[in-house]
Amino acid sequence: MKNITVIGTGYVGLVSGAGMSDFGNNVCCVDIDKEKIKLLNKGVIPIYEPHLNELVNRNVKSKRLIFSDSIEDAIRSAEVIFIAVGTPEDNNGNADVMVVLQVAELIGKILNNYKVICTKSTVPVGTGKKIVSIINKNNQNNIEYDYCSNPEFLREGKAVSDFLRPDRVVLGVTSKKAYDYLKDVYRSLYINKTPLIHTTIETAEMIKYAANAFLALKISYINEVANLCDEIGADINIVSEALGSDGRISPKFLHPGPGFGGSCFPKDTKALMYTAKKHNVNMYTVNAAIKTNNLQRIRMLNKLEKLLEGNLNKKMIGVLGLAFKQDTDDVRESPAIDMILGLMKQGASIKAYDPAANDSMKKLIPKIEYKLNWQDVVKDCDAVVIMTEWNEFRGMDLSKLKKLMSTPIILDTRNILNISELKKLEFKFDNVGRK
Ligand code: NAD
Repeated sequence: MKNITVIGTGYVGLVSGAGMSDFGNNVCCVDIDKEKIKLLNKGVIPIYEPHLNELVNRNVKSKRLIFSDSIEDAIRSAEVIFIAVGTPEDNNGNADVMVVLQVAELIGKILNNYKVICTKSTVPVGTGKKIVSIINKNNQNNIEYDYCSNPEFLREGKAVSDFLRPDRVVLGVTSKKAYDYLKDVYRSLYINKTPLIHTTIETAEMIKYAANAFLALKISYINEVANLCDEIGADINIVSEALGSDGRISPKFLHPGPGFGGSCFPKDTKALMYTAKKHNVNMYTVNAAIKTNNLQRIRMLNKLEKLLEGNLNKKMIGVLGLAFKQDTDDVRESPAIDMILGLMKQGASIKAYDPAANDSMKKLIPKIEYKLNWQDVVKDCDAVVIMTEWNEFRGMDLSKLKKLMSTPIILDTRNILNISELKKLEFKFDNVGRK
């Protein structure tokens, strides 16, 4: 078991830090955001992620997990350092690795004994080499270290189980000593026969982008099939179920909807395109996935407009769900953003509610009405649109919904409502591929 420092205590850093402490390691999660660390030290989890509270509490109690804003001290005392800071999209569509490189510089400057330095952040192929060169430049005393790429595959909403029971762990590392260190970090997984994929740094970096782009492609593909179902009268839910039961395809990421969002797929597909272009390689499929995704968002807005006979001006629209998917408070690149902005542009007024993401969306779009339950949102609305597949919306009493609304018009962009019931209650409705 190792002494670990995780730099960046966001969605990935916090879950993986807590997860690695659960495996028996001593973990210190650090962040530049002092408020976040203060909250964590008070026992408050700053993000909504199912089961994270229990995981963190259990490991804080056992003294294997601590939080600190003394980044330099935490670097000094670590045997293994994981970099888990953000890599948002830059102005050219590539991943902005500036913070990763800043962290590498800091690590290089204060390297005091042998450490394994590992990047968990999603970084374009070739970033590992840049990190190593920055560490070397700042490592004045030539202290021995090894660099490793360990991309993270957890999904928000299922992050805890994804981290504790991953399909595989990818370790891009060339030194035997560092590989043994990391095998020790992930010992609980290793002894449970979770595949550890041992490869080079570049291959590990590539695996992450290839995986995310493939999943994005799958979503865009099923969305296009759903759009065709719309026109020909086939039912996408059954098409998708039949496709997914084919072992070669698998049912995951085969749910049609308003387009993929979140902090990964949109930026990672673009960053992969950027890398491909730089190396003069065509990636028509990934390009198509991005294009389809943008069109899918517009298509949802058009559907709502059609339900309201082309006139959104001065209409009161209820938006149910703001997070980019259920079980998270993350609204980064959420399809709800495009829906809300599109509606506002056409003169509609918006009331919105999300079980976890009201506060995050308020920071992005402050000028709409936020409510604390779906009933307050739908009251006197001309139409309602479901943007996130929360169970709470699946279980809505549709006759109550109808009574509260001004006109019973609903767009279900997640296909979670019962069509027979909507028909029985004489709703005017639309969905994605279930005419
Ligand atoms: P995030 O924005 O939630 O967290 C990043 C954290 O880093 C923040 O808490 C921020 O305050 C902190 N930080 C910024 N600069 C710092 C510095 N100089 N020193 C210390 N801390 C600093 O981001 P995230 O969603 O956790 O993503 C992190 C990385 O993991 C990204 O590269 C992302 O692409 C990748 N990733 C994300 C997910 C996901 O589902 N969110 C999944 C897999 C991989």
